[in-house]
Amino acid sequence: MTDRYAVVGHPIEHSRSPVIHAAFARATGEQLTYERLLAPLDGFVATVEAFRRAGGRGCNVTLPFKEEAFRYAGAHTDRSARAATVNTLKFDGGGVLVDNTDGAGLVRDIESNLRVGLGGARILLLGAGGAARGVIPSLLDRRPAQIVVFNRTAQRARDLAGAFAGTVRARDALTPADRFDIAINATAASLSGAAPALPAGLLAHAALAYDMVYSRDGTPFMRRAREEGAAVVADGLGMLVEQAAESFFLWRGVQPPTAAVLADLRAA
Ligand code: NAP
Repeated sequence: MTDRYAVVGHPIEHSRSPVIHAAFARATGEQLTYERLLAPLDGFVATVEAFRRAGGRGCNVTLPFKEEAFRYAGAHTDRSARAATVNTLKFDGGGVLVDNTDGAGLVRDIESNLRVGLGGARILLLGAGGAARGVIPSLLDRRPAQIVVFNRTAQRARDLAGAFAGTVRARDALTPADRFDIAINATAASLSGAAPALPAGLLAHAALAYDMVYSRDGTPFMRRAREEGAAVVADGLGMLVEQAAESFFLWRGVQPPTAAVLADLRAA
């Protein structure tokens, strides 16, 4: 019997998750299929329930349903409860396990693939949407010195930082004198060919400038980071593969190899 998994979103045609999970299944010998499910904007729960009734064993959740998925009935992992946003559902017998693997995927890409340490780092987190919120618990678990949240709409940054006491602070403005070890672009700016507005030279001293958006040619944020002299500049393809691996592990109990899949995706 082949187990069924899916990614649910709107739109969904662009998703690379089916390719990634098919590669994981081949590499591990796990018997599964993984499909794309387009849910109507007002039909997330109905789409997931229909998939579950049809024998689905779990699904990934992508835009714009990650917050709605948090309210889907089920047992939350600690990291998804802290993030209040969800990208993975596991259907187990009569129950549902609700998780968020984005943060673990980001941390593994930064620390294992890019070999940049998060412990003690001064982190600048750009953006205050679901992606930024989803990764904060996993970043905090690595014990950075600080996480500064900066967002185009300052109130959203304040609200997000307010949900995580202590190490996470919001800033309404940044100055050229600010110093960060790691700058993570969790905004959607790259999708419209823009970069978040930052003071000149802010990225010059960064050990890592990371854009969660993936791009073959580099995003505007990545180009700026390279021009200013950031030591390592990366896009979010590694995060995409690593968060998928974490979901695969949750579902199957098997850790898939990621390096070859990431290399194949980059070469494609
Ligand atoms: P979201 O909830 O819609 O939030 C969008 C964020 O981007 C907000 O903070 C918004 O600021 C900001 N923004 C949008 N356009 C901007 C611009 N031109 N300049 C400055 N800020 C801008 O989206 P999300 O779920 O957080 O996703 C953000 C990005 O992360 C997406 O591009 C997504 O593809 C990517 N992502 C990648 C992975 C991965 O695995 N690599 C995983 C998750 C997400 P305002 O509050 O001012 O509107």
